[in-house]
Amino acid sequence: MSRFLSENLINIKPYEPGEQPRSSEKWIKLNTNESPFSPSKNVKNLINNYDYSKLRLYPDPSCYSLISKLSDEFKVNKSQIIVGNGSDEILAFSFMGLCKNGAAFSDLTYGFYPVFSNLFNIKTKIVELNNSFEIDINDYKGLKETIIIANPNAPTGIELSVKCIKKLLESDKDRLVIIDEAYVDFGAESSIKLVKEYDNLLVIGTFSKSRNLAGARIGYAVASEEIIADLNAIKFSFNPYNLSSLSIDIGVEALCDKEYFKSCIEQIVSNREYLTNKLEDLGFEIVKSKANFIFVRPLGIAGKKYYERLKEKGVLVRYFDKTRTKDYVRITIGTIKDCDILIEMTKEILSEVGR
Ligand SMILES: *Cc1c(COP(=O)(O)O)cnc(C)c1O
Repeated sequence: MSRFLSENLINIKPYEPGEQPRSSEKWIKLNTNESPFSPSKNVKNLINNYDYSKLRLYPDPSCYSLISKLSDEFKVNKSQIIVGNGSDEILAFSFMGLCKNGAAFSDLTYGFYPVFSNLFNIKTKIVELNNSFEIDINDYKGLKETIIIANPNAPTGIELSVKCIKKLLESDKDRLVIIDEAYVDFGAESSIKLVKEYDNLLVIGTFSKSRNLAGARIGYAVASEEIIADLNAIKFSFNPYNLSSLSIDIGVEALCDKEYFKSCIEQIVSNREYLTNKLEDLGFEIVKSKANFIFVRPLGIAGKKYYERLKEKGVLVRYFDKTRTKDYVRITIGTIKDCDILIEMTKEILSEVGR
């Protein structure tokens, strides 16, 4: 810490991303929920034919082309959408500006929420998941704080039904509910359709997972015109050019390729079921996932040890060293080949530890 750091930032606890090795070749990388597939060929064509002289100019601060495309996709008005430099940026704007009564979220959820709460000095209520790692919406009864829910949740992959979300929205129309749908495309139901009916709902999504574009940093949010206007006021007070021109164009191209999007999702879902069954055959306990990862409790070896042994063998998964998660590892769903290698390595490890 330098002597120049602001007083209010002395206690910040930065987010700890999963390992991002610089040489990707030697790793089977199943630790940060990226897609194992390339982005759409449309994106390849765009980049191959890109007029680089366009980069001389600032990007369109309204991101009109991308927002138009998203408005067709989600069947909402353009004034009900904002895009961000990854959905993390929109989450940051939301914590910064839409948590006037504080924030409430689960004890076990996306690790960035407490980081933002801390950074923006927001009064925070932690609501415990039940013993099966599920959200009980009754636990949110009477809370005035803005509620933030990842749906499906991370790192469990468990889905909260739209019916429950509707109840939550009904129960207090003066309280904002933020649904982070980073993983919704892998088999869960989106709450975007509720935006028409509820002006206390903000739905946030990303191109990082289901659209194979984590490196392009494209996120979006859908809500009432008023909420989007608030988020735009924050954006234009912070970084009006939050998406690069290239990322705006990449987002449009990815959205055009619906076939490829569908086929990638289908493969991930099918690989998820395959890997779940194979690990269950080894006696592992797998949380029922609707995401592109599974939360796994190995049998016959501690979670941390399993993570370390996999790493020694060149397979990266994610381990969270916290009381409720220490027996588990989170495994991103890769290609079928990745899954088979993981299964082989797991069998090796189990025989090495004498199980
Ligand atoms: C990955 C992830 C994000 C962040 O996505 P970006 O768009 O890449 O910033 C947001 N929320 C959850 C729950 C995630 O897992």
